Amino acid sequence: MVNAIVGANWGDEGKGKITDMMAKEADIIVRFQGGANAGHTIVNDYGKFALHTLPSGVFYGHTTSIIGNGVALNIPVLFEEIQSIVDRGVPKPRILVSDRAQMVMSYHILFDQYEEERLGGKSFGSTKSGIAPFYSDKYAKTGFQVSELFEGGHLKEKVQRVCETKNVMLEYLYHKPLLDPEKLLEELKSYREMVGPYVCDTSAYLWKAIQEGKNILLEGQLGSLKDPDHGIYPMVTSSSTLAAYGAIGAGIPPYEIKKIITVCKAYSSSVGAGAFVSEIFGEEADELRRRGGDGGEYGATTGRPRRMGWFDTVASKYGCRIQGTTDVAFTVLDVLGYLDEIPVCTGYEIDGEVTTEFPATVKLEQAKPVLEVLPGWNCDIRGIRKYEDLPKNCRNYVEFVEKHIGFPITMISNGPGRDDIIYRNQG
Ligand code: GDP
Repeated sequence: MVNAIVGANWGDEGKGKITDMMAKEADIIVRFQGGANAGHTIVNDYGKFALHTLPSGVFYGHTTSIIGNGVALNIPVLFEEIQSIVDRGVPKPRILVSDRAQMVMSYHILFDQYEEERLGGKSFGSTKSGIAPFYSDKYAKTGFQVSELFEGGHLKEKVQRVCETKNVMLEYLYHKPLLDPEKLLEELKSYREMVGPYVCDTSAYLWKAIQEGKNILLEGQLGSLKDPDHGIYPMVTSSSTLAAYGAIGAGIPPYEIKKIITVCKAYSSSVGAGAFVSEIFGEEADELRRRGGDGGEYGATTGRPRRMGWFDTVASKYGCRIQGTTDVAFTVLDVLGYLDEIPVCTGYEIDGEVTTEFPATVKLEQAKPVLEVLPGWNCDIRGIRKYEDLPKNCRNYVEFVEKHIGFPITMISNGPGRDDIIYRNQG
């Protein structure tokens, strides 16, 4: 059985926590897209961790973690990350890397920086992890697959060829130092040493695991609104963030994905530029940012303060639909306990008309939020394990959101820890 855990919004919804929690019952956890540009923060018995490349199931001895073919694999980052968790007492995880995964090269990171510099104020707010140049090369068919590391002659010739085109850009567009093919070849050889023992045909491995009835989790990065097709293009990421892409990025049949658990945060936050209709500012935003998540809403990779906003039912309804949601995991609800009143964005006003359908970017940029204000519950709900034990206003908030988004909220997360969860059976 394969289940996917994905984000409904702009990312940072708490997918890492839900994956870490669900990995208890899983055999295999697969990352299927994205790279080290975003992070998951996980709090468990070993402490607090920010993972960027490893799947969030690495903390259990019984799981196998897979870096699928759809991932932008930064090999040094992967191995630093493995070392950093092992150094903190986590047993060495069992990891498999797809022979079809492509590698983030050091020049991808440089190109990302140079392009941001060149764009100046018009930049996309990239994390400068090389992700956009990486995926551009993948689809321009000039990327390097892990499998190529083991073909010496071929690699030498390809490195030469790639350097020729990259150096034209470096010289004439960016005015930066040129790439040296010899150095690049050395870089690739060092990657081969590091990754060699972990490489296999992970798609074939997963196929067999499915036949054997293994429990497999696909872990998404970022959320629906950062998807290059369905998100707020061009302020999106460069790989699909949708559960459907899980089939491609892991190499499994799409019909094997049985549950799509879409993680949706009880308020909104976003990093990077782009339309954010329910955004709030000033002291109101600062307070939510300080209290948000577990220790504040700051990027797990960059430390950047996140932009904050009220829950947006328009964006979340769309985000859940486009994921193909079967279950919503509603997270970080505990954080809202300080508010007397909680505004919720339930519509967008565009050209004088109110809509609950999430529009494409040009219209989205004109949207103004229509807010409804719900009463708060003014208390700490951490530690509560039964839905009925939540304060009435808190249940009202959950049910209000559920009605507006139109997908069942079957899990409520009321704290960062593994056990901070309330299961809700739909009658
Ligand atoms: P991800 O990328 O979707 O995994 O999300 P992040 O890890 O970037 O952000 C989620 C943050 O919220 C992390 O700091 C989590 O520890 C924290 N978190 C997750 N669920 C809850 C929750 O229910 N309550 C609180 N207070 N924090 C949570």
